[in-house]
Amino acid sequence: MITGKTVVAGVTGRPVTHSLSPILHNAWLAAAGIDGVYVAFPLEGDGFEALAGGLRGGVVRGLNVTLPFKERALALADDATDIARLSGAANVLVFGADGRILADNTDGAGLLWAFRSQAPDWNVASGPAVVLGAGGAARGAVAALVAAGAPRVSVVNRTLARAEAIADALGDRVVALPLDRARDALSDATAVINATSAGLSGQGKLDVPLEATPAATVVMDMVYKPLETPFLAQARALGRTTVDGLEMLIGQAVPSFEHFFGQRPPTDLDVRGLALKALKS
Ligand code: NAP
Repeated sequence: MITGKTVVAGVTGRPVTHSLSPILHNAWLAAAGIDGVYVAFPLEGDGFEALAGGLRGGVVRGLNVTLPFKERALALADDATDIARLSGAANVLVFGADGRILADNTDGAGLLWAFRSQAPDWNVASGPAVVLGAGGAARGAVAALVAAGAPRVSVVNRTLARAEAIADALGDRVVALPLDRARDALSDATAVINATSAGLSGQGKLDVPLEATPAATVVMDMVYKPLETPFLAQARALGRTTVDGLEMLIGQAVPSFEHFFGQRPPTDLDVRGLALKALKS
């Protein structure tokens, strides 16, 4: 029931009407008995700054921000967490009662959550990781892996200059490679993460020699529509442990919920089942 005290949070992006976040957050709110609601704020035009700037003061507690506004979300904020700064983007804005806006990036935490959940034997510090792609999602993943103790992260991208920009920004444990040299990085990788948009329904397939990875390598795809991308299917056929993008989405929502509603979401609710049902409908 909506009351005079209902705490409001939401998600904005373009497009956002098919976002699974309202399903996750509202299920958690109901299960925890919190007087709160989480809604989508679709932006058809270019009004991101007007929307987010207009929420200063905390009448709406916070926003998740998705494509294509994550970099602009960081730029708009007054304060930012270290990981948001390193990621160069924010997927969370928190509106303080004092008028200030705090930016955070929980995508990297979501990535690590997904590995803990679906590949619990993998240890980030045990060896090199490979991130395929050099967009915003890739940069966030590299920042999180470096912060969590990965000894080396290779950023492999079709456009080498974009991979080099990430390596320049994130320090000497990060190396950049063009896509046609992916094999060099894959041969000793403990984890391979697809952070390109290839694999999305209707997009081209990513062509990398996954068979060059050691048998124990964990393979992850950030794309979750479809849940089993051609990339994950290739990894599974090779016998590799796989991690999917839906688990990352759930993992980024957990600290987002905490920002907005002041407590961890309940753990005894099958939000993955709810999200899977929504993905199929
Ligand atoms: P982006 O900034 O548009 O970057 C896209 C990247 O994909 C670029 O590096 C691009 O290479 C590469 N790419 C696209 N098509 C390719 C192809 N056919 N072959 C090789 N490389 C290709 O996108 P983003 O924001 O980083 O997001 C990337 C993906 O992650 C999206 O699908 C997004 O939905 C997903 N994501 C998922 C989560 C989650 O919670 N599961 C969170 C964040 C993002 P060039 O640089 O050469 O163009």
